[in-house]
Amino acid sequence: FPPTAELQALDAAHHMHPFTDGAELAAKGARIITRAKGVTLTDSEGEEILDAMAGLWCVNIGYGRDSMAEAAARQMRELPYYNTFFQTSHVPAIELARKLAEIAPGDLNHVFYASGGSDANDTNVRLVRHYWAAKGKPEKKVIISRKNAYHGSTMAGASLGGMTGMHAQGGLPIPDIVHIGQPHWYAEGGDMTPEEFGRARARELKAKIEELGEDKVAAFIAEPIQGAGGVIIPPDSYWPEIQRICDAHAILLIADEVICGFGRTGQMFGSQSYDICPDIMTVAKGLSSGYIPIGASIVCDEVANTVAEAGDFNHGYTYSGHPVACAVALENLRILEDEKLVENVASGTGPYLAEKWRQLAEHPLVGEAVIRGFMGSLALTPDKAARAPFAAETGTIGLIARGHCFENNLVMRHVGDRMIIAPPLILTKSDVDVLIERAVRALDLTLARIKDEGLYR
Ligand code: PMP
Repeated sequence: FPPTAELQALDAAHHMHPFTDGAELAAKGARIITRAKGVTLTDSEGEEILDAMAGLWCVNIGYGRDSMAEAAARQMRELPYYNTFFQTSHVPAIELARKLAEIAPGDLNHVFYASGGSDANDTNVRLVRHYWAAKGKPEKKVIISRKNAYHGSTMAGASLGGMTGMHAQGGLPIPDIVHIGQPHWYAEGGDMTPEEFGRARARELKAKIEELGEDKVAAFIAEPIQGAGGVIIPPDSYWPEIQRICDAHAILLIADEVICGFGRTGQMFGSQSYDICPDIMTVAKGLSSGYIPIGASIVCDEVANTVAEAGDFNHGYTYSGHPVACAVALENLRILEDEKLVENVASGTGPYLAEKWRQLAEHPLVGEAVIRGFMGSLALTPDKAARAPFAAETGTIGLIARGHCFENNLVMRHVGDRMIIAPPLILTKSDVDVLIERAVRALDLTLARIKDEGLYR
């Protein structure tokens, strides 16, 4: 390939990146990743980088798996594409649906395919409204989501999401989507204990349902652990209360498992980690470990059967159940099970990672270090006792810290001034040692620099 500088110039000139400041990209250039193996990325300069974000919470089985490439090639030769519209089907779509029904909890037995998480959540919006219409309640169409949530970038996905700067951009949100607070004790819990705060935030759901009227509300959507919002691990009191409220008010519960699904929390699904029983789960990312685009809604018997009987759900994508994507996802799930990667999170590397990660709370810059399974976050702060934010604009310090991680060949992401990890599920204890060593170095460099620049306040 051409020299790095040339690639960077071409990239900035012609490639519109998602979620990227174009001017900054033109000024600095992107780091160009050329190949990867296991947990390690290689860039165009030959530098090796430890990927503690699994690409973008995707590559659970790690990079460079020949059998994944073979599964794709085999399926491409046999049947590269056919649709699943109008009473046609094919073997990979059938087998994957059966497999997902087998591993999903409760009576989540039906699969509607998409190409990623955003469009699967679009499906969910239409599906729950269609369900209630089929039950004779067309007015039951409001979907309650949470502030600071991320559920995708399509018109419905971004409307469900509650992120500042995104949720209200470009004519959004679409109608009949409302938000309640997130169970983010560290930032918003004040003097309450985490458990008190978890219950209080759950009760906002009840208050919102009562305010709008039960007959107007179709569903509540949330991630078991909010990922892109900064790995916000809810207090234990939160989910049982949410489940109780949804059940008591006949509100469908949609668990967005795009990040939490397929082992990341230490069980196959985050819903299982929190003992909840959703009516619909959104999956993507880890479904194929990012090797190919695929997403899905996994739907319970009651909703799927009602919609099937109504017979007029006019919805679908050209690539719903793409045979190559399904074949690759099946191979991914085989690897996940055969190599016991969920067990690696729960009882192999997981406890070691958790111990080392939590020790980062001793660093002068870190206000809290939390982790569940292979999802962890650090709150950066100038004042631990007060859990105080920095005086500088939110994200300034996080961006500096992320830069020092990257220079030290560690991919960690920042959300505001929270640093997050979501490494591949194949991570070993020696990978953990490297991760922690580089993270500490990056935190030290960040602290020194912000003191120098007068930003440590
Ligand atoms: N839901 C969640 C929880 C996500 O994290 C994401 C992607 N970051 C999405 C939905 C959207 O998925 P996609 O980017 O595949 O459309």
